[in-house]
Amino acid sequence: MNSQLTAFITLSCISGVLNLYLCLYVFLKRYHYTKIAQLFVGYTAFVALYCFACAFGMIATTLGAIKFWTTISYAGMAISAPLGLLFIMQYIGFNITKNKIVILLVIPFISLIMVATNDIHHFHYRVFEIDPVRGVPYIHQEIGVWYIIHGVFTFASMFVAFLLVLAHWKETVKTYRWQLIALMCGQFIPMIMGFVYLMGFTPQGIDPVPMTLWVSSLLYLWSIHSSHLFRVMPVAKDAIFHSINDGVIVLDQFYRLIEFNQACRKMFPQLSKSMFGMDFAQVWFIVAGQSMPFTLETREFEITLTTAEQTIRTYQVRITALQHDKGILLIFTDITALKNLQTMLEQQAYYDELTQIYNRRAFFKQCNQAYREAIEASTAFTVILMDIDYFKKVNDTYGHAIGDQVLVHVAKVCQSQLTKGELFARYGGEEFVLALKGSTLAEGEALAEQLCHSVASQPLHTTEGMITTTISCGVAEVIHHEETLYQLLNKADQALYLAKRAGRNRVYIYKG
Ligand code: GH3
Ligand code: MG
Ligand code: MG
Repeated sequence: MNSQLTAFITLSCISGVLNLYLCLYVFLKRYHYTKIAQLFVGYTAFVALYCFACAFGMIATTLGAIKFWTTISYAGMAISAPLGLLFIMQYIGFNITKNKIVILLVIPFISLIMVATNDIHHFHYRVFEIDPVRGVPYIHQEIGVWYIIHGVFTFASMFVAFLLVLAHWKETVKTYRWQLIALMCGQFIPMIMGFVYLMGFTPQGIDPVPMTLWVSSLLYLWSIHSSHLFRVMPVAKDAIFHSINDGVIVLDQFYRLIEFNQACRKMFPQLSKSMFGMDFAQVWFIVAGQSMPFTLETREFEITLTTAEQTIRTYQVRITALQHDKGILLIFTDITALKNLQTMLEQQAYYDELTQIYNRRAFFKQCNQAYREAIEASTAFTVILMDIDYFKKVNDTYGHAIGDQVLVHVAKVCQSQLTKGELFARYGGEEFVLALKGSTLAEGEALAEQLCHSVASQPLHTTEGMITTTISCGVAEVIHHEETLYQLLNKADQALYLAKRAGRNRVYIYKG
């Protein structure tokens, strides 16, 4: 046996031993590992079989023995390629079903049968005989149709597996990229060596792949130990990551985009993988159409954005630091429905359903506070009570519905005259109240006159014709510190009563 052959056999055996070791090591530890370890055990077992069968083939002395070991090596090689692909698919996050396994194993099984029965049909090897020049174990072979089908399938399995890993490169955190390198080499090395073999760069009948598989085995072994392959699979976590309803964005320590999930993509349709590595402020400008209204140091806040469909959505944003200063996580929870409900409830609780101005409850809630502040600061505080004149007659003449329209109209006219954030509310049936913080009695009286004039001069156009209404106002100002808001309102009510008695459509001030 020449030294070259000895080297080939030795290398193939090393690959076989390493794969067998990997297989047994992962098998014994399978309970500590994630599910993908099972496929890896299968994969390495078949790779080991392939390597040993090739080594035995090289020490065989008869054509029959070489054929036998070639068949065995096919059992290992043909099956290991799709198993490697399945293993990678599971690592990436694909759901591996029995059907997928069966489908991928159809061609390898046919290849195995084809090789085992080649003497009958010669579909796999047209010629398979001892090399007349070099003698055993070198083989002179001429490939058949099935050899090409098998070759393409095996090559494609490895290539697809390689591409699948490569596709996850950008979105994988740096620390875990070593895992990807190991997995890519595991596919790339046999793929390239297989290609070299097919190109005829190696001695006839000598398959160089098993001689190089020890390199990928060492890489796997290193990856299992150093980056915890099988324990932590960054890529397989994708499945969970993308199933979260909240939008999640991952930034590195320099605030560059490194990952986002599908929910986030729905929230920000312009978000794309091409933005990986881009500064987040820039990303935000593109996806939200505005510069970032928050800093990445803020922990929790709410943000309202207008979508491309012009709908307004509110998000609660939480920012969390990743362990060991590896970056940050932005979690977007869509709280639009909650906000709308909250707004609706607030609206119902504090606004008058008919006129859409504050109701009595909201008035007292806000006025009490303003009143206390005015008393403490000794600033002026005036209230105006307004009542629609002869409103009962409106209802009796035109009906309740038109009466409602008049109420809305009066509220609108009054509101249009208010500019300084005065507190305006529906006080009762057809009564309104105005609280003027910082206004004197004279200022209150002037405003009341203005309101009276506006209401009287702006009739309402209805289906029943034009309706002119008037209002009467009572104005009162707080005089001394002990006076309560209720007493002040009572004074305004007395003034209002006098205005009514005096003929309506006028303003009366409380004079004490
Ligand atoms: P005055 O000039 O003395 O104020 O006479 P008035 O008819 O306006 O006084 P009164 O207080 O007797 O009548 C108020 C009426 O307002 C009685 C009530 O039926 C009507 N009213 C109260 N709330 C509503 C409402 O929400 N819609 C309608 N259409 N009418 C209302
Ligand atoms: Mg009244
Ligand atoms: Mg009235």
